[in-house]
Amino acid sequence: MTIKFHISDDILLSYSAGALDEASSLLVATHLALCPHCRARNKSADSLGGYLLESLEATPVSPTMRATVLSQVKNEVTSPAPKTPSRPFTNAIIPDPLRSYLGGDLDDLHWNRLAPRVQQIPIDTTDHRSKARLLRFQSGLMVPSHGHNGRELTLVLTGSLCDRDTVMYRGDIAETDERTEHQPFAGPGEDCVCLAVTDAPLRFKSVLARLLQPFFGI
Ligand SMILES: [Zn+2]
Repeated sequence: MTIKFHISDDILLSYSAGALDEASSLLVATHLALCPHCRARNKSADSLGGYLLESLEATPVSPTMRATVLSQVKNEVTSPAPKTPSRPFTNAIIPDPLRSYLGGDLDDLHWNRLAPRVQQIPIDTTDHRSKARLLRFQSGLMVPSHGHNGRELTLVLTGSLCDRDTVMYRGDIAETDERTEHQPFAGPGEDCVCLAVTDAPLRFKSVLARLLQPFFGI
C-alpha cells in the first residue's frame, strides 16, 4: 500500500540539519527506510543544506571566539542522530534503524502491558528531550481521549490506526501538537503496532487515565 502521510517539511529539514532530538530522528529515519518519496525529499534537503553552507562567505573570527564556538559544538553533539541505512529495503516488519534499537524484529520483542489490550516497549535513547516507545494496540482498541502538551509523532508499522476521518497504514506518519484533542483507535484485522515519540506528557480527559498516567510514564 502506498504511504499517504509523510514527514512535514519542518521536521525533515531539522532532521537533515541534525537539529532533531534522537527519538524524533529515529522515527524519521525509520519512515525513510519505508518511504522512497521522503528519501528523495531528504536527499534534496541535504544538498540544499550543503549548498547553503558552501555559499556562506567566510568571516574571520578571533582565536578566542573560534575556541568558544568549537567547544560549544562539541558539547552539543552528545548523541549521534540515527540515520537511514544506505540499503533500507528490507523484508523485516521493523526496519532499521528502529530494529537495532529494539534488538530484533517483531517476533523477538518482549512487550510490557500498559493497559488492557495495550502493550508497550519503551525505547532507550541517550538524549532525553523526547521519549520513544513502541505501542501495540489490539484491533478495535480505542485510546482514551486526550490532548497534548507538546508534539507527538506516530509511525504506523502494522495494522491500521484511525483518527477522526483518517486511516493510517504501514509507513504513515501522524503529527499532532498542543492544538490536537483526539481519540485514535486501532482498525479491524491485524493488531496495530506503531512507534510513538512525544516531547511532553499527554493530557488525558478521564480521571482514571490521569491517575494511572504517572505509573506508565506517558
Ligand atoms: Zn514519506
